[in-house]
Amino acid sequence: MKKLLTGNEAIARGAWEAGAVVCSAYPGTPSTEIIENAAKYTEMYAEWSPNEKVALEVGAGSSIAGGRSLVAMKHVGVNVAADPLFTLSYTGVNGGLVLISADDPGMHSSQNEQDNRHFGRAAKIPVLEPSDSQEAKDFTKIAFDLSENFDTPVMQRITTRVAHSQSLVELSDRQEPVLKEYQKNALKYVMIPAYARRRHIDVESRLEKLQEYAETTPLNRIEWNQTKIGVITNGITYQYVKEVLKDASILKLGMTFPLPRKLITEFSKKVDKLYVIEELEPFIEDYIKSWKIEVYGKNIFPMIGEILPETILEKMGEQSKNKNSLPVQAEPALNTPVRPPVLCPGCPHRGLFYVLNKLKVTVAGDIGCYTLGSLAPLNAIDTTICMGASIGAAMGMEKARGKDFARNLVAVIGDSTFIHSGITGLINTVYNQATTTTIILDNRTTGMTGHQDNPATGMTVKGDPIKEVDLVLLAKAVGVNRVVVVDPFDLEKLESVIKEELRAEEPSVIITKRKCALIEKNKDTTPCVVLNESCTGCMRCMRLGCPCIVKEGKKVRINSTQCVGCELCIHVCNSGAIGKEGQTNV
Ligand code: SF4
Ligand code: SF4
Repeated sequence: MKKLLTGNEAIARGAWEAGAVVCSAYPGTPSTEIIENAAKYTEMYAEWSPNEKVALEVGAGSSIAGGRSLVAMKHVGVNVAADPLFTLSYTGVNGGLVLISADDPGMHSSQNEQDNRHFGRAAKIPVLEPSDSQEAKDFTKIAFDLSENFDTPVMQRITTRVAHSQSLVELSDRQEPVLKEYQKNALKYVMIPAYARRRHIDVESRLEKLQEYAETTPLNRIEWNQTKIGVITNGITYQYVKEVLKDASILKLGMTFPLPRKLITEFSKKVDKLYVIEELEPFIEDYIKSWKIEVYGKNIFPMIGEILPETILEKMGEQSKNKNSLPVQAEPALNTPVRPPVLCPGCPHRGLFYVLNKLKVTVAGDIGCYTLGSLAPLNAIDTTICMGASIGAAMGMEKARGKDFARNLVAVIGDSTFIHSGITGLINTVYNQATTTTIILDNRTTGMTGHQDNPATGMTVKGDPIKEVDLVLLAKAVGVNRVVVVDPFDLEKLESVIKEELRAEEPSVIITKRKCALIEKNKDTTPCVVLNESCTGCMRCMRLGCPCIVKEGKKVRINSTQCVGCELCIHVCNSGAIGKEGQTNV
């Protein structure tokens, strides 16, 4: 039977068909839907872990105990999980262990566009790269076999386009899971230096065997055509190369680490001109150049952002002026206007950033939908580095510039991000005697990735209710004496609480608690309207950055089809010119 699946759905299906028993992840675009879909299979345990390091550790434990395990994360999540990853390369596995790294060329939803093939090389583990949903499923199953056959974790690297595009997938039955025998084996699983030294030898010999495997595996294949142009490519770029360079011969690499040197050399000898078309880093190209093979790559194609069909069309079009090259054969894609991201109508974060902007405080920001508070007109955030960095960054600012600077400095962090890796920063402020004010934006969900649960929401990925982490008690437990909970839409109270906590000579935590507008069900959604006669055109309400409020002539209008009636603008307007639709005084 065939079914239309996204790459992420196909990976979850592949894990199920491969007999995986444990799946773990921290949500992160573009990988989130993998575990959401894995959780639908009752035969597999699935969890949202507090962060990627814990997710990989859970996968490692399951693997060592004999079960096949899938661990998924976005590319920057692998940075968080790198500590266990590099040592797991040494311990190897028992049940197969597959790590999905979902990279984001073009940074559709990320703070950088690192190329995680480098992690595969650095950790000395194989890297597979599917090009569509069928391969995403098939490669997942192959990855489990490879993992067990070569005693290694396997990285399957996908990119946003593979993760989120749909294509037809041939489905198979679930392979009966075999829980491999668990045997205590300290030499393999206890990485004290004496044992780790021996395992390093095993890692190097495993790499040699993987190199031999790369030469003959069907994961790497040549599609012969005319031999004027030969293209080596991988992942989604393979689809674009096939679409644009219809007459070229292609060496498609489904396994990009380790690379098949003999196969590449043989291919290069049979084509007149060799190109490598790969997104981001010249990963394949650098190897080929180191083998003294003449190749065109990043001298033509960009190292920044995605390589799209039109990029290949344009760059090869320039090349085709050269008489040795083939003409390219595709139509350029239409240019569509870009719509800038914005906090949703009714977003609880808007009230906080409005106040922070008004108070002109320095704000160390973090990763989440609230990062949008950095954009005009809120302009409230000074730094955004990585998950959980805000509290440490604010503390560093205070230590560098002194306590007076801290009187006008806050760290902001979401509830999920606080649990992911903010809590250690808060412990540090207490331990090392900073006075930082930390604001936890508790919107009762992991908002940016599409409303996943976390330990503070009271629900698991399987939909089971659990005891939620009490953020007030947690902050107090690590030694914060001043913990205040406030509604971010109560602007007056919020402003006075922030001012008071900034004055405090000790660390404090403010929890702004209000459900994300997209999950709040019990609310009055009657839209607000502007009474034209009362509106003075002061534009104060425009400072909220609500997409529903638009300038019309010298005054403003509220788009009632978008407005969710959160009433924030009513509190901001000093002229009483905004009210609920249908109210007589407006
Ligand atoms: S804040 Fe009130 S008076 Fe000022 S522009 Fe908005 S609706 Fe008009
Ligand atoms: S227009 Fe006002 S009430 Fe409507 S969503 Fe925006 S801030 Fe809320």
